[in-house]
Amino acid sequence: MNYNKKTVRDIDVAGKKVLLRCDFNVPMAKDSSGVITDDKRIVAALPTIRYLLENGAAVIACSHMGKPQPSFDKWVQKQTEKGKDPATLTEAKWQKSLAELSLKPVAARLAELLEMPVIMAADVVGEDARAKAAALQPGQILLLENTRFEKGETKNDPALARAMADMADLYVSDAFGAVHRAHASTAGVADYLPAVSGFLIQKELDFIGGALANPKRPLVAILGGSKVSSKIGVINNLLEIADTIIIGGGMAYTFSAAQGGKVGDSLLEADWMDYSNEMVAKAAAKGVKLLLPVDTVIADRFAPDAAQQVVKAGEIPDGWQGLDIGPETVKLYCDAVKDAGTVIWNGPMGVFEFAAFAKGTEAVAEALSKTEATTIIGGGDSAAAVQQLGYADKMTHISTGGGASLEFMEGKELPGVACLLDK
Ligand code: ADP
Ligand code: MG
Repeated sequence: MNYNKKTVRDIDVAGKKVLLRCDFNVPMAKDSSGVITDDKRIVAALPTIRYLLENGAAVIACSHMGKPQPSFDKWVQKQTEKGKDPATLTEAKWQKSLAELSLKPVAARLAELLEMPVIMAADVVGEDARAKAAALQPGQILLLENTRFEKGETKNDPALARAMADMADLYVSDAFGAVHRAHASTAGVADYLPAVSGFLIQKELDFIGGALANPKRPLVAILGGSKVSSKIGVINNLLEIADTIIIGGGMAYTFSAAQGGKVGDSLLEADWMDYSNEMVAKAAAKGVKLLLPVDTVIADRFAPDAAQQVVKAGEIPDGWQGLDIGPETVKLYCDAVKDAGTVIWNGPMGVFEFAAFAKGTEAVAEALSKTEATTIIGGGDSAAAVQQLGYADKMTHISTGGGASLEFMEGKELPGVACLLDK
């Protein structure tokens, strides 16, 4: 995939109506009060929005929010599958479920942050949206309703993409968290409009794309998290690129078991043992250094206050489970990143959500904060771990897209990036 894409700076936006795809899929309070519990994604979109407005564009912003069910019948079916009594499923309740996923609270928060009015459309491509888009003046911003209120959005329906495109002269994508999806508003619209990236996507392409395509070496990949099966693509792709691969987290026990180790009650994916052996062999054949834990912190149950002890890797007694890498492993891994040129990290080293088992993840974060290397963090939980442990501002780049950054690291083509104009 070509990561060198045109940005808003490479195109004249003055006097243009710009359809701007944002990621405003923010967490909302569970009590239907419309309170946004974390506005990070709205704040992150501000630089591109401000750039467009200041340079004379009229901005038609759009985003999805949650997973609304745009048809009543489908909604009833889904709710019934979840065990709800069909007799209680009324049209009014369905309407309420949609209203809870309205972008109105986002418009209000965006207006506060921009210190200017944000015009809210009642629909996505309906009469209201079209009239408001047609009347929009340079320097003004309109927010369309939740794109997933339209059935065609997730199906990448060309008619919907066309209708959205018809309101604008230019498409700017800044929703990195959604670029791995080929939806009408993330990719389809680019069939009908010139398409460029905003600053958020540009940054992701520069850092992750740069690290994959042309890394400063040595490139060290740190891979952890819960499961081997969810990281096969990442391991595969990074084996082709990295000089050193470090394995930690829950997936390490599948590697250990495959080598004949005893893993007790640790997370184990027996079906993936052969695969993990293949990866070890492949690394050896390619001359990639692959490091596995030499010791592990084990617990007598999966709990924050579980009894714990340190044992050698592969010597976990029955009834115990590995929840973190051990102190010798920490030393080994911190040493391995010391002289790195680039470090890509995906997946925590242990169950960092429990303070007692966060030491391995924290030590690695600290080691990264001290290197001269370009440090790139991908994956939702990894980003959360680095934030929670207080190392966020010490990293070169923390990806904002969970699923999107994983697919990026897997080397997959991202439809929402591929559709943008090449530089
Ligand atoms: P990311 O979202 O960054 O891609 P993953 O979703 O793969 O990361 O993994 C994150 C999860 O892995 C965390 O919730 C963490 O608690 C869990 N995890 C890490 N080590 C272990 C372990 N030894 N046993 C069980 N779960 C683990
Ligand atoms: Mg995750």
